Amino acid sequence: MKLTFLGGAGTVTGSKYLIESGSQRLLVDCGLFQGLKRLRERNWQPLPFAPGTLDAVVLTHAHLDHSGFLPRLVRSGFHGPVYCTAATRDLLGILLPDSAWLQEEEAEFANRRRYSKHSPALPLYTVADARQALRLLRPIEWSASVAVVPGISLCFSPAGHLLGAASVLVEASSGRILFSGDLGRPDDCVMRPPALPSKAEWVVIESTYGDRRHPSVDAETELAGLVNRAVQRGGVTVIPSFAVGRAQVLLHLIARLKARAAIADVPVFLNSPMATDVTHIYASHAGEHRLTAEECKAMCTAARFVNSIDESKSLNRLTGPAIIVSASGMATGGRVLHHLKAFAPDERNLILFAGHQAAGTRGAVLVGGADEVKIHGQWIPVRAEIAQLQSLSAHADRDQLVAWLKSARLQPVRVFVTHGEPAAADALRHYIRREIPLEVTVPEQGESIQLESPGTS
Ligand SMILES: [Zn+2]
Repeated sequence: MKLTFLGGAGTVTGSKYLIESGSQRLLVDCGLFQGLKRLRERNWQPLPFAPGTLDAVVLTHAHLDHSGFLPRLVRSGFHGPVYCTAATRDLLGILLPDSAWLQEEEAEFANRRRYSKHSPALPLYTVADARQALRLLRPIEWSASVAVVPGISLCFSPAGHLLGAASVLVEASSGRILFSGDLGRPDDCVMRPPALPSKAEWVVIESTYGDRRHPSVDAETELAGLVNRAVQRGGVTVIPSFAVGRAQVLLHLIARLKARAAIADVPVFLNSPMATDVTHIYASHAGEHRLTAEECKAMCTAARFVNSIDESKSLNRLTGPAIIVSASGMATGGRVLHHLKAFAPDERNLILFAGHQAAGTRGAVLVGGADEVKIHGQWIPVRAEIAQLQSLSAHADRDQLVAWLKSARLQPVRVFVTHGEPAAADALRHYIRREIPLEVTVPEQGESIQLESPGTS
């Protein structure tokens, strides 16, 4: 069996792992590269195999850095089955067309303003490609071992990172590889803890926070402190947020804070057309998260849902205290860019990032303290307070990752550390080796590794 790292190596984006066993080819995750230009350019490079020769794709969860390349794969000739959980399928029904729409819109905007050096600027894929990709989705049950291609079966277990997020065990005659997927924290306020890892000879583990321990800050206290300060200045709080998962957590926290009058009763807007649908998806998969029916309802009514473009634009004229939650989470695109243009120049306002900011994104630039930021080809001065919530990560930290690995019922032969910036991945490698006597590797982008089962090596 051969494992090739085609993404998520040296970066947190673009996750793609190719498994070749006999004549079968399976791709685990099909993520979009995001952030640095040299990474985004990889989305345009051909894969080292013909997409039409791939037998199947498996998706661990719906985030675009794990799923957002799928429409491009389909556009390039892949027509096989795509396995995922039912909740992931439901979320992708919203995420993939939206991602395609943003790609089309950005290309169109670039052509109108002529700020792209490509003429004409083209979208990576279209809404039609995304719809075609959705037709290939084949949901499978949690914890069921399902034969997906001859000689290879899959089993999903909860990863606690996002609704529908799974770790996936890939089982072939020559051995078992466990992909952690993105692992959540045991103490997440919406998702249940990750399941114990399955028995496997090889483990591919993420390392987004492989060099850190989460501070023991309470999410509600942290959010209330920041929002209250902005409200006292008379400022608007803009929270760039992933529309799926993170936005729901924020609404849940805001609802709880307002219910106990820990923040002022300021207007809250959720400016993301996907929000209503996503919230319904959370409600329809009630057994898969921690929220009760009442908490789901409070989350749904915590904000005014903004749908039309006119209403979205009118938010930019807000002068008094308010909270705007809007996508995208790393300020790489979407409606939040217009809010940043409107609110970043005023020192009363607060731009509050709610998650990890990948290197090269506008989010990382702003969190890094830049005093201006380029949006739609225009330099915008940054005078607003810039902050980042430390308590809301949807990823396990170093200790939680190693605790998960330690609880594996059978010691793996070898561990591959992926899905981290280079320093985080290497720090996790060191820490695992210190704690558990295992062979640990940080694979390079494009590296192929022949997996020999213990019996044959
Ligand atoms: Zn994720």
